[in-house]
Amino acid sequence: MKWGDFTLAVVSDGSFRLDGGAFFGIVPKALWEGSVDVDSRNRVKLALNCLYVHTPEHRVLIDTGIGNKFDARWNAIYDIDRSSTLLGSLARLGVQPEDIDVIIHTHLHFDHAGSNTTLLPDGTIVKTFPKARCFAQREEYEHALNPHDRDRASYALDRVKFMPPYCDYELLDGDVEVVPGIRVSVKPGHNRSMQIVELESRGLKTIVFSDLVSTRLHLSPQWITAFDLFPLEVVANKKPLIEQALQEHWLCVFYHDTHCPMGYLEEREGKIVAVPVQ
Ligand SMILES: [Zn+2]
Repeated sequence: MKWGDFTLAVVSDGSFRLDGGAFFGIVPKALWEGSVDVDSRNRVKLALNCLYVHTPEHRVLIDTGIGNKFDARWNAIYDIDRSSTLLGSLARLGVQPEDIDVIIHTHLHFDHAGSNTTLLPDGTIVKTFPKARCFAQREEYEHALNPHDRDRASYALDRVKFMPPYCDYELLDGDVEVVPGIRVSVKPGHNRSMQIVELESRGLKTIVFSDLVSTRLHLSPQWITAFDLFPLEVVANKKPLIEQALQEHWLCVFYHDTHCPMGYLEEREGKIVAVPVQ
């Protein structure tokens, strides 16, 4: 998709499943079961919608999905579906791994940084994007290396292996323009230091909400996942951004949405909804 001076594309790393009760928190199942793919074990299907951005200067990826390093047991627990992979999705655009020179991580949970490294058939683990500089918030990086018992499972470093020595990161301190036209902004809530990504080219604006608004269903202020460490901060941080995205017609990217990877916001009967773009 041509977007000002940029080209944008959602590049999927497949999908996985999480418990629906955890993904929708206090929202009753009766309100969400008709809008999502839920299996017999009450697991909801989550997309892994990474964003590829070709700017005049750079070829950028925003988050890298879940990767191929979970063993059979954990693949079954999360029902990981790799019928589409990040590398396959990029190849369909004619993009090779060595073409990517910048990777921006909204945070370092295993489902957002998993494909930074690849497990080869001989058991070795290599950097997936050999020429890419990987950017993450310093606070998030330090937390990933020393997580709390509450969110240790969200990093799964013993299984997914995307931190040093397998992959190195360049660390950001707060809100900054990482490359021309692509800014990050720290929005605590999902965890202490998750960042959203904003793209701007020729007056057009795109927002990558990441897990501040995981799916279009989470546009409702009170729809918050049980994974969020600071739920009231999720509400405080997402509301003004959603309002601005509606008013200023921003293109919105929903990382975990299987139905609406990208969309525009509209107000219908007093409710803000997302309308997918193809
Ligand atoms: Zn996530």
